[in-house]
Amino acid sequence: MNLQNLVRKNIASLVPYSSARDEFTGEAQVFLDANENPFNEPYNRYPDPLQRKLKQKIAEIKNVTPDKIFLGNGSDEPIDLLIRAFCEPETDNIVTIDPSYGMYQVAANINDVSIRKVPLSANFTLDPMTVLHAVDLHTKLIFLCSPNNPSGNNLSRSAMHHIARHFKGIVVVDEAYIDFSPGNSLLPDLDRHKNLVVLQTFSKAWGMAGIRLGMAFASPEIIGILNKIKYPYNLNILTQEKALEMLENKGQVENWVATLINERNRISAELEKLDQVKTVYPSDANFLLVSVENAGLIYNKLVEKGIIVRDRSKVNLCAGCLRITIGSPEENNLLLEALKNINLA
Ligand SMILES: *Cc1c(COP(=O)(O)O)cnc(C)c1O
Repeated sequence: MNLQNLVRKNIASLVPYSSARDEFTGEAQVFLDANENPFNEPYNRYPDPLQRKLKQKIAEIKNVTPDKIFLGNGSDEPIDLLIRAFCEPETDNIVTIDPSYGMYQVAANINDVSIRKVPLSANFTLDPMTVLHAVDLHTKLIFLCSPNNPSGNNLSRSAMHHIARHFKGIVVVDEAYIDFSPGNSLLPDLDRHKNLVVLQTFSKAWGMAGIRLGMAFASPEIIGILNKIKYPYNLNILTQEKALEMLENKGQVENWVATLINERNRISAELEKLDQVKTVYPSDANFLLVSVENAGLIYNKLVEKGIIVRDRSKVNLCAGCLRITIGSPEENNLLLEALKNINLA
């Protein structure tokens, strides 16, 4: 893979915006270079454009060097930036698995980049050959998602490796739910595959969907391209501070994850006992894909009881399926009680 040939020409030759904080990064007594207001510390100051302090901390926890980390306004930002950096509108395409996370398609559509969806096999497994067969000369990115949303299962590691080894473009593996599936991250394989991008997020296990913080891990060369085209100050001070605070509470996060995995196993077993439930798919994430009798009706009855799940019955391979997030033990009990009392007759 030659990254300079892969990236769009206008991006390769782009001169990025150079902010005051890019041009002078050290300590000083008086900063009169960014037209900031001298009052209202600390929010009067622009944030660090490269989020060095936060990256240092994340680097320690994830066991990667800071130059392999990009931080964005949710994972949605690197998804969009990757498509913008590598795909020429109206010409290039991306390949994704189906069903999967809807943002790959939306980001491609916004950028006028076509998308080729490869159906997963039985039980939502990944066949690397079908994915590679969907690739043509204009395919720049392949998006995989493991554990996959909405199916909940991990994709096969060897299948993902096979794709990364044989594809000449960039392979993005979205690991938004990886903390619920310990030991399965592709992060340790970044050095092996120079074309691999791993996405993770603070929105799920870390309990911080509201602060909008997503991570992309990749070679320093790929990270450099994302840094070049991002908004200069894409992460605000509040987000960076809150995330640093949360990173000191890693034990808390581990407790939440343990509770949610326990609950997932309990709810899965309880759901299996209900007449309305046909299949509970195995999950490596914090949600369950459940095939039921009359999904639309059950969805509406739950709404009447104030319980909102996601109706995925229109999604490919998910006919009749609801996607149920694992909540607190109390919330999960309310769901089970409500389901037991729904009369389909
Ligand atoms: C929830 C989710 C995300 C998280 O997106 P953010 O923008 O980081 O909140 C990413 N990918 C998948 C597959 C998801 O389900």
